[in-house]
Amino acid sequence: MSPAILVVEDEPAIQELLAVNLRHAGFEVIRAGSAEEGEAAIRAAMPDVAILDWMLPGQSGVALAKKLRQDERTRELPIIMLTARVHEEDKIQGLEAGADDYVTKPFSPKELVARVRAVLRRRSPHLAGETVEVDGLALNPGTHRVTVGGQPLELGPTEFRLLFFFMTHPERVYTRAQLLDEVWGDHVFIEERTVDVHIRRLRAALEPSGRHERVETVRGTGYRFRGN
Ligand code: CA
Repeated sequence: MSPAILVVEDEPAIQELLAVNLRHAGFEVIRAGSAEEGEAAIRAAMPDVAILDWMLPGQSGVALAKKLRQDERTRELPIIMLTARVHEEDKIQGLEAGADDYVTKPFSPKELVARVRAVLRRRSPHLAGETVEVDGLALNPGTHRVTVGGQPLELGPTEFRLLFFFMTHPERVYTRAQLLDEVWGDHVFIEERTVDVHIRRLRAALEPSGRHERVETVRGTGYRFRGN
């Protein structure tokens, strides 16, 4: 599962430069030419990092960053601000708006990719490709391998994503709608009972190892994954 990076940049050449380099580094890239397009992209599917240009037609990148920080759904979304401005006070304004990092144009694509990786590692270590482990159940997002006590486990792609989400968000109860949003992304045309089908498959795959009991049904609400 490659992390998805949203690029909000109105200059086509820079947008292209960012997209090519991020894709080359193994990321999935979603492009937007304005803050409004960026917001629509986030509504459709939550990215793992947002790169926001400061100067955009219409709403500015700083205004968008502020908005994203105020919205509960996007509060934790890592943001990197991109700008031609070099003054210290602008930098402070960008960081105060809620940006995690700040890159000044002209930038080296290599450096930008390194900053994206650093932000991912800080905010969500599992997205940086590190193995997640709970009670001998180990999942590697880079190789897509799941093992229990070293023995490989066969999982379908949706069950893999579901387990990945659960293991990285243990102990919290999620409704079916929230799981659709987090695991399926654009879920407009998917029925909530689809979640139950994949939960059943995930439990069946985990059952031989006994770890299926960690996927708990919370009556009237949804599901929760029991951590350590
Ligand atoms: Ca611009």
